[in-house]
Amino acid sequence: MKIVDVKIGKIKIPLKRPFKTALRTVYFAEDIIVKLITQSGLIGFGSAAPTFAITGDSLDSISSCILNELKPRIIGLELTNIECVMSKLHASVVNNTSALSAIDMAIYDLYAQSLNLPLYKFFGGYRNLVFTSVTISANPPDVMVADALVALEDGFSDLKLKLGVDPNYDLDRVKAVRAAVGNLIKISVDANQAWGAKESVRMIHKLEQLGLNIEFVEQPVKAKHIEDLLYVTQNVTTDILADESVFSPYDAFQICKQKAADLINIKLAKAGGFYQATKILNLAESAGIECLMGCMLESQVAVTAAAHFAAAKKSIVRCDLDPPALLAENPVIGGVSLDGNVLTLNETAGLGIKDIIGVQYL
Ligand SMILES: [Mg+2]
Repeated sequence: MKIVDVKIGKIKIPLKRPFKTALRTVYFAEDIIVKLITQSGLIGFGSAAPTFAITGDSLDSISSCILNELKPRIIGLELTNIECVMSKLHASVVNNTSALSAIDMAIYDLYAQSLNLPLYKFFGGYRNLVFTSVTISANPPDVMVADALVALEDGFSDLKLKLGVDPNYDLDRVKAVRAAVGNLIKISVDANQAWGAKESVRMIHKLEQLGLNIEFVEQPVKAKHIEDLLYVTQNVTTDILADESVFSPYDAFQICKQKAADLINIKLAKAGGFYQATKILNLAESAGIECLMGCMLESQVAVTAAAHFAAAKKSIVRCDLDPPALLAENPVIGGVSLDGNVLTLNETAGLGIKDIIGVQYL
């Protein structure tokens, strides 16, 4: 099975409401869609979102990397030698994890189709559904309360509160949402690198003293400041989740060897796809660190890929795969479906994506 053509297109999907974190405010989900075509007629899909503030990747850089660097390297490769394909692909460029993820995803889609297996079964098949949290954007406390109550009406029972936009209000945000939703709802918080190390410890101690029952605090400090992450992890009892600190398996190794976090957030767009995500998961599992599966604010193609991986693996114990609840439209036909807080995988081979409406391919 050989790839004979690589096509890319763009989609732009409106959101139900703006997505606000300490790093960025987003009004649309924009994706580069990748379509790999084999000589036998099988089609593999992948996608990548430009997240300049997180990965450094833009629509133009993703397109350029795929068309100018990755496409020439994968045309004509025999895909059944998947380890050869992946080692060549991932040695071909540094960084550019969004572009790599889109291509890696589409290749695994084809590979699993050739084996007539849904991707989650190819990767391990531990379960066929996952539960997802939903993100509440960083806003004034009353707006976050209103958004949290809508999320509960939609069937969610696990809320991730974005903090760090004017951190003086962070404690009020958490107190207001906890008071509004009661104690049975899970709440986690994500500061997206907005706090300093000591500020994080002070803030988390307050959350603990107030009995706000926070599941975990995500990426309180700067991505590269592993010493600060370690300091926070060692000085609070609440679990600390590393997100932007872990892109590569080597990043995960640094976290694991120091136990600088209690949990790792795996995102295909950070890791560069399934091949590297598997290595991160195996490292974390070996170190006794559980993983959360996350994604960017992106279309159902990449969310489907992440859900397959999360369902496949026992040590992915939480999911934050909420774009289907945040996007106003879904142009993707096939793939994962969201009902309340449950994402269910279907039994179609590969990713199960049939088509994407409205994409103009180059
Ligand atoms: Mg995060």
